[in-house]
Formats: sequence, structure tokens, C-alpha cells
Amino acid sequence: MAFYCYHEFKYNSDPLVMTQKNIHPQIHLKRLKTNYRLVAVLWALLIILFVTWSQQNINSEAMGLARQEAISNFNKDQAFRIWASEHGGVYVLENERTPANPYLSDVPERDVMTRSGRQLTLMNPAYMLRQMMDEYATLYGVKGRITSLKPLNPDNAPDSWEREALLAFEKGELERLEVTDINGKPYLRLIRPMVTTEGCLKCHHHQGYQVGDIRGGVGVSVPLGNYYIIAMQHKISLWLSSGVIWIFGLVAAYFFRKRGEEKVYERMEFEAHIWHRANFDSLTALSNRDLFHDRLDQAIANAKRNNLKLALLYIDLDRFKDVNDAQGHAKGDLLLQQVANRLNGCVRDADTVSRLGGDEFTVILSTIADKDAAAVVAAKILDQLSTPFELDGFIAYISTSIGITLYPDDGTSSGILLQNADAAMFKAKTEGHHTYRYFTSQMNRLAEQRVNMKLALHTAIEQSQFELYYQPVFTVKDGSLDGAEALIRWRSPEDGMVSPDQFIPIAEQTGLIIPIGEWVLQQAAKDLAYLDEVGAELKNLSINISSVQFRMRDFTSNFLRFLEHHPHLRSRLTLEMTESVFIDEQGDPGYHLGQLRKHGVRIAMDDFGTGYSSLSYLKRFPVDKLKIDRSFIQDLIGDPSDAALCETIISMGSHLSLKVIAEGVETEEQWNFLLDHGCDSAQGFLRGKPMPLAELEQFICNLKMNEN
Ligand code: C2E
Ligand code: CA
Ligand code: CA
Repeated sequence: MAFYCYHEFKYNSDPLVMTQKNIHPQIHLKRLKTNYRLVAVLWALLIILFVTWSQQNINSEAMGLARQEAISNFNKDQAFRIWASEHGGVYVLENERTPANPYLSDVPERDVMTRSGRQLTLMNPAYMLRQMMDEYATLYGVKGRITSLKPLNPDNAPDSWEREALLAFEKGELERLEVTDINGKPYLRLIRPMVTTEGCLKCHHHQGYQVGDIRGGVGVSVPLGNYYIIAMQHKISLWLSSGVIWIFGLVAAYFFRKRGEEKVYERMEFEAHIWHRANFDSLTALSNRDLFHDRLDQAIANAKRNNLKLALLYIDLDRFKDVNDAQGHAKGDLLLQQVANRLNGCVRDADTVSRLGGDEFTVILSTIADKDAAAVVAAKILDQLSTPFELDGFIAYISTSIGITLYPDDGTSSGILLQNADAAMFKAKTEGHHTYRYFTSQMNRLAEQRVNMKLALHTAIEQSQFELYYQPVFTVKDGSLDGAEALIRWRSPEDGMVSPDQFIPIAEQTGLIIPIGEWVLQQAAKDLAYLDEVGAELKNLSINISSVQFRMRDFTSNFLRFLEHHPHLRSRLTLEMTESVFIDEQGDPGYHLGQLRKHGVRIAMDDFGTGYSSLSYLKRFPVDKLKIDRSFIQDLIGDPSDAALCETIISMGSHLSLKVIAEGVETEEQWNFLLDHGCDSAQGFLRGKPMPLAELEQFICNLKMNEN
């Protein structure tokens, strides 16, 4: 059975489904996260390194500038000192600030008198320099100092750092620097050697110095406060810009992580989609046959491990085909979806509902307490599915057949359980629909028989094991012979006479009905010709046509060609078809029926009353006869509603100018009822059972003789 399922595919985001590729996407996601964290840490380290390095640069740059300032001060001092030494010192007025230098008492002409009587005293370069340095320190903060290991002035005696520097100078070092605190403020202190020149000897020759000797050191201390402020400003902008770059890098890495994650999610979605397509039915979103087998295997394994019982229910909708054919595939699809929803509502989460295909569903009850528990669920399903379905304005009633099998009682493998459940379902179907049956071992034989029958039917066709029987049809009003219905029989060498009710459905399923139907037509043509020949003419012959046969694209044209070859059949044939033939909208049955009727073929609606919406089809499609199904005739006398139904069919038929034929008439009461209500024709065991051709010939001849 073909269904069209155009509805949207629903993405299932169950993470359990992501197990298809070699790297699990969740691992991929974890890796991305770890990588991101690693990059963030490395990036932070890099930035910290850069900032540290830059800070050091800033610091040493500040120190370099401070040193430059110290050197330029040193150079100025030096230039001044050289100048002053060359000039041998300067005479200044002797006063409080510049008293006679006691350390120069050995210098001749230390004190001189000007002509005007002013007392001048010699100020040696070192002394002048010190005074100037003091001045400079007061004005600009830069302190200068002269020191010597053999100072003339004890104030010029070196501190420990200076002493170390002076000793190093004697060994050839040229400069020493240190950062130190002076009065609680940071200073860069620079000291360079002071070399004895010609001019120095004036004051220092008595100490034994020669030109070129290192006589001491000149120190300069530059305040670092301003340099620190500038460095701090540079550092702040360094921190800010580095922070921005760090954040930018983090954002970029995060962006890449997100892109990576998106790709993984895309892959996950794609894989889930593929997995879902492979495992779920696209129409109902139930698990499909493949997944059903997986789940059943899992359930069996679980039941085995834990010593549990499980049940498998096989569910088949009894009249689905009619709805699908009559109302179109869209409504058929809708019905299946609603059935799926209701089935889901009948079971627990742990149970699995699957659609095996067509209108066949299964339910795995993964754990059941006992046998009866499965029946409770089956009854619930029957109840749920008996509520009418609303299909876009059309109300559908369906019945359901359910087969139940149990693990481990009936079987322990999924294949066997499925086969059992199917056999039990078949039993439920044949025993009256809308019911459930438990599997019994006897059913296995029946199922086996069905499989064997398929094979045997092939042989039956090859070896012509079929026969055609004829059941006479009578006019009710006067009891005269109206015609006959051809009914096929299969004489199987193994099983004897097999009823068409048993093998026609299987022939329909396997397509074997086509050659069988062909054979019936040819045989009927031959038999009718024979009856004509022997003078036992039949006015009417009814032939049953299966819907599978009628739906073959070239049925009508083939049939009309067949009529051309058998002119004696013209206007004598009635084709009996069930409702499902009339309602195959896509095949345009109305047109084909019209063609047949144009060529004198009459159409009977067989099994009338058992179908779906017979009345609406009667209006739309051209037919000539209605055959009241024998199930209504059977209970005609005992069941008032069947009586009312027959009455209605008869009167409706006469209203629509259709001939009404009753089948299965077994009693005089039934016959009289039909007579009273004006039924046109009747057939049944009462007046004539289906019989082989030779018997029919005799039957007709006897009737003729009686008439005469
Ligand atoms: P059907 O078309 O409804 O045929 C009437 C059935 O009722 C026949 O069963 C007939 O033997 C049975 N019948 C007639 N009178 C009575 C009666 O008084 N009491 C009872 N209990 N039954 C009665 P049969 O021959 O077994 O055929 C069964 C069905 O098989 C037919 O039902 C028809 O649907 C199908 N069939 C038979 N021959 C052919 C055929 O050549 N081609 C196709 N496609 N289907 C056929
Ligand atoms: Ca029939
Ligand atoms: Ca019937």
C-alpha cells in the first residue's frame, strides 16, 4: 500500500543519537572549550610578558634620562672645575659665606689685600664647586658633591657607597650609578672619577698627587620624582592599551570557539537528521521497522538479564485501505498520524510504538507483570481507536485487530516474536475484527499454511488446478432463473477444495489475481459458449472482478478486446466489484465504468452495505445492480436492524432504478421477506448452491423441462 508523506520532518535533538561518527561531537565541543581556555591563558601570559618587558623599558628609559641629566650636570661641573683649576682658583671677598679656607693654609697667597684695602681670600675650585652645587641643589634639586679618599675638608669624606666607587675608579672603572633615598625622596646618584690636572696641584700638591692621578670623585644626585611620574603615565597607558588588546584577543578567540561550536552543532543536527530519517517513520514520527528491531532486541536482552516478561503487540487497522482509497492519501496520512498519537497515549514512556509500514503498528511492552497486563493495554488500544477520527471534515470509523505474543513464553528471538504477533493478529482479523488474540502454537501452523499457499498458488496456475463453479440467480417475483454467478474453486492436490475466501486475498497480495482473473474470464467465455451449444443458455453471467484487477491500467481496454473476440458474451456479462474499486479516485473509475457500460457490460456493486460510504459513491458512479451482502440476509429474520437495512437498500435501489440482488438466501422466510419487499433477484443455498458446469447444465435443463 502506498502512502504519501509530504509533511515536515521534525528534528530530534536527543543527544543520545550523536553516536554515529568516530569523534563524538560532545568530545569535539569539550576540546573546543579546553582549547579556548588554553588560548585565553596563553594570551594572558603573553600580554603579561609584554607588559613586564615594556615596563622595564619604561623604567630603564626613565633611568637613562635621569642619567643623562646627571651626566650633563656632571659635565657642567667638570667644565667649570677645569676652568677654575686652570685659573688657579678665584679670589673672593672674605666674608661669612666665603671665609678664608683653613684647608688652604699651606697655599702661599691664600689671602691677599686689594689696593683699596679689601681682604680677599682664595677660593679653590673644589670649594667653589661645592658652593655652586649647594646653590644648584637649592634651586633645582640636583645635588652635587665632591669626595675623596684623602679629603682636605672632612665634609668631603666619602660614605660607604662612594668609598666603594672611589676604590673601583682606582682599578679603572669610570662610572657608578645607584638609586637611593635622600631625605625620603628617590634620587639617581651618579659618580665619576676626578682626575688630577695641572691646576689641581696648586692646592693639592702637598698631598703628593701627580697629574693624571685619581684624586676623588664627583657625584651628582638627580631627583627621580618627575621621572617616576612620567614613567607611571607611560605605564598606565601601556596597561590600558594592553588590557584592550588582551580583551580583543579573548573576544576573537571566543568568536572562533563559537564558530567551531556552531559547526559542531551543524554536524550534530545533520547527523541527528540523518539518524532520524533512518530510524523514524517520516509520517508518524514513530520508530520504523529498523529501529523497532533494535528496540525489540534491546528489550529482549534486558528481559533476559533481569528475568522479566515482555509483550509484543501487532496492530493492524481493519478498514484503513478503504479510507485511504476513498478519501485520498492525504486523509489516509492524517488518519495514520492520529492513530500513532493515540497509540502513544496508550503506553508508558519505556514502551516503544513503531510503524512497520502501511497500517501496521507494533507496541513493545518492555516489562509486564503477567499475561493479563498485555490484554489491558490491548483493550485500551481497541477502545482508543474505536473513537471516530476527524480527518479534515471527514469522520472515519476504524476497527483494529491486535495480536499479542509474550517473551519468553512464546519465543525468545525478535524474529519469532514478530512472526507470532503477526499470526495472532491475523487470527484476530479472521475472527471478527476489533479484537485481540494471544498467540498460540497452533497459529504457527496457520501462518505456515499461508506461506505455503503463496507457493502453491503459483503451481495451481501453472498446472490449471482451478475450476469454475456457477451459482444460479433467480428472479424473486416468479422464481425463474435470471442467470448465474461464476465462483472460482481451487482443487489443490494437497488440501482438496480450497475456498476463494482463503486464497483470493493472498492472490491479491501477490498479484497472482491477474493471471487468475484472466483465466476466469476465458473459462467463463468457454463455458457460456458450451451452454449455448447444448441449449442451456444463460441470460446473465456475473463475474467477480477484484479491485487489484480493475486498477490495472489496461483492464478496460483488455476487457473490451476480450468482448470483441467473444461476441456471444455481449450484453450478458455483469462485473461484480466491491466498493473499493469505485472509490479509487486517482484511477478515474467513473470513466472506465462508463466505457464498460457503453459496451453493454453491467456493473454490480458487490457486498453492498459492508463498505464505507456506499451511498455517496452510488450517486457519483454509474452502476446497474446492488448485491446485498449475505451477512445482512443471514440475520434478516432475527435482527430487525438488518431487516430495516435490507428494506432500505431495496427501496433505494428501485428509487435509483438499480436492480437489487440478495445473496446467501438459505431459508423460505428470507425468500418471502425479499418477495414481500420487492427485491429483484436472489441467490443462495435455498434454490441453488454453486455447482460445476455439468451440474449447472443439468440444473438449467431440469428447470426448462419443469417449465414445459
Ligand atoms: P461473493 O462475491 O460474495 O460470493 C458469494 C459467496 O457466497 C460465495 O462464496 C458463495 O459460495 C457464497 N454463498 C452463496 N450462497 C450462499 C448461502 O446461501 N449461504 C452461504 N453461507 N454462502 C453462500 P465463495 O464461492 O466461497 O466465494 C467467496 C468470495 O470469493 C466471493 O464472495 C468473491 O468475493 C470471491 N470470489 C469467488 N470467485 C471469484 C473470482 O472468480 N474472482 C474474484 N476476484 N473473486 C472471487
Ligand atoms: Ca460476488
Ligand atoms: Ca458477498
